[in-house]
Amino acid sequence: MKPKKVFIKTYGCQMNEADSDEMSSIFSLYGTQETKNIKKADVVLVNSCTVRANAENKALSFLGRLKKWKGVTIEDVRGSKKQLIIFAGCAAQRLGAEVRKKHPHLDITTGAKSIEKFAEVLDNSGFFDGQSKKPHHAKSPANPLGVQTIMRGCDFACTYCIVPSVRGGVKCLSKKEIISSIEQKIKNGAKEIVLLGQTVNAWRYGKTDFADLLKEVSKLSNLKRVSFMSPHPIHITDKLIDTIKNNPKIARNIHLPIQSGSTKILKDMKRGYSRRDILIICKKLKDIGIKISTDFIVGYPTETEKDFKDTISIVEKIGFSHAYCFIFSPRQGTKAEHLKPLDKKVLEKRVNILLNKVKQKASKLK
Ligand code: SF4
Repeated sequence: MKPKKVFIKTYGCQMNEADSDEMSSIFSLYGTQETKNIKKADVVLVNSCTVRANAENKALSFLGRLKKWKGVTIEDVRGSKKQLIIFAGCAAQRLGAEVRKKHPHLDITTGAKSIEKFAEVLDNSGFFDGQSKKPHHAKSPANPLGVQTIMRGCDFACTYCIVPSVRGGVKCLSKKEIISSIEQKIKNGAKEIVLLGQTVNAWRYGKTDFADLLKEVSKLSNLKRVSFMSPHPIHITDKLIDTIKNNPKIARNIHLPIQSGSTKILKDMKRGYSRRDILIICKKLKDIGIKISTDFIVGYPTETEKDFKDTISIVEKIGFSHAYCFIFSPRQGTKAEHLKPLDKKVLEKRVNILLNKVKQKASKLK
């Protein structure tokens, strides 16, 4: 039987990219081949994001266009087993059956919480019946960069964020699973490993914490570099800073999302730290030679001109190498959903001021 061809479209963050890689390797167990040409595909997997309305809309609009890809009428193709569309990830988790109602050409929805059950989903589809199965790791292309998910979900409850409700609470992989998977990646040619998790440095398994894990990973031979993303400021401990300091294999740049420079806004967002905490953490990191990049949310509904100035001044004080600056986007089901948004013009003005300030400071770091 000819191998089925799979086209994968991923929206959103690196967690989603890693989830797509994982789903891709599960597909390969069914003897499939990945294709970059959707016209040649038998299966389309859309791995969606819902963190911002914009990302969700893009995934839904792509899904809408797939009606044409399936061709003919929906009634003709439904159940014909000729082509399969799978809508996965965070938007699939949030929208569930609703999305199938709106897009009847869609065959399967599987949410971000069910990634461990993806093989079951494929089995139950009946689409791969008769395909010869391959052993795991049979198809692992040589890649100098290995991305290793070490945990999924989040135990925080930031008021603007939909992640805990679509991905659930933290679930950590064991140290044994992580190390053996990384060893496999090294065998397949990885020289650099990125440890990945929604709040990666909250990883803990039994008595082993993230700093211990990082130390273990960096001891692996034939590995040149280890980095991680995205850490949460609360879990940047002195032990972690010491581990980084004493281990040259660990990358000297960290992406540390701080979101705001105002203690009041950080409290409103329920981030769990203050402006002072950030200044202390960033100083410790910079003292050991770390370059810091960050994320900001501009225009949280309670953000005053004074709060915004606090964000500008934290950029001035810390000097980030780069910052992603997002305008606040209300998400259904979050605590901040019903807060009155700030005026559009104010939001645009603030985001431009912030972007310029970040750029100006970053250029002086080089
Ligand atoms: S730490 Fe906050 S922003 Fe990050 S994923 Fe968890 S709830 Fe969302």
